[in-house]
Amino acid sequence: MATRPKVVVAHTLPDAGLALLEQRFEVEAGGDRPDPGWLRKNAPGAAAVIADPSVRVDGDFLDVVGRSLKVVANFGVGYDNIDVDAVRARGVRATNTPDVLTNATAELAVALMLATARRLAEADASVRAGRWGRSAASAFLGRELSGATVGLIGFGRIARRVATLLRGFEVRLLAYSRSKGGDADGVEFRELGDLLGASDFVSVHVALTPETRHLIGAETLAMMRRGAILVNTSRGAVVDTAALIDALRSGRLAAAGLDVYEDEPNVPTELRELPNTVLLPHIGSATDSARNAMARLCAENVIAVIEGREPPAPVV
Ligand code: NAP
Repeated sequence: MATRPKVVVAHTLPDAGLALLEQRFEVEAGGDRPDPGWLRKNAPGAAAVIADPSVRVDGDFLDVVGRSLKVVANFGVGYDNIDVDAVRARGVRATNTPDVLTNATAELAVALMLATARRLAEADASVRAGRWGRSAASAFLGRELSGATVGLIGFGRIARRVATLLRGFEVRLLAYSRSKGGDADGVEFRELGDLLGASDFVSVHVALTPETRHLIGAETLAMMRRGAILVNTSRGAVVDTAALIDALRSGRLAAAGLDVYEDEPNVPTELRELPNTVLLPHIGSATDSARNAMARLCAENVIAVIEGREPPAPVV
């Protein structure tokens, strides 16, 4: 009997996708926290590797897997972890999971806007610590999203969904996009500096590329309104963490809501000690429906490539 192709899952994959793969292939999964080196040890000979943003897929890794490899399927829409030129050069396909996580991630960005503006993490911590005494009228004063100006950096799928969700808050919406301009559907497109200077909230939605790395750094943070709030649900390295910490300490920024970091899962102590941050562990797509749909799409990408068909969500 012919051996079934091997599919190696770097970490875990929800059952909705795993079951589809197990019906057809030999599947090896690393589990929640595989030993460092597990992937390199198990990937050789695989027809498919399922990676995620924490798994670096470069030429060296592709060579470790070897000539059996047909597809690197990312469990996520961002694919900055994959060296696409190295993949292309070896005639391998790469895929991702767009659309199915758009709403979940957009809702999380809105949640971070509200959580930072209304100081939810600080207020929650005070109740848990038994510090809720007589209410002072000045306790946990925040600000309202309604009526504010919100600047979206990047105007792809997730940013567009954020814009739609925010319409009910009656905000003024600005967006910076390298490819779009003019004004459309209640969104005013602006140059980056103009957007930063005019926004009460800035929400980052660009893909991480060499051009967007540290797009938000000391220089661009200095262009932001004093007391503005920054939300980042895209990739940590789009924001220069050291410059962000300075801006939060100096009061230039009132607060930051972050789901992503430069060196995940390490979050700098300075960021953790600041009271005006809301810090989440990269949970943008972490809803049942989004993760199951991502798992299915990821599996469908793998099945299509191994069976010689065009995958539903190709990157390369
Ligand atoms: P998308 O539709 O591809 O949008 C990405 C946006 O980035 C596009 O508007 C693109 O602009 C812009 N962009 C890329 N390179 C740029 C550059 N050099 N300068 C300016 N803009 C640039 O992707 P999406 O589905 O909205 O996802 C956006 C990002 O969110 C993903 O790449 C991922 O990193 C992140 N994400 C995070 C989570 C989480 O769990 N926190 C979940 C999902 C996604 P153009 O339209 O001009 O090409």
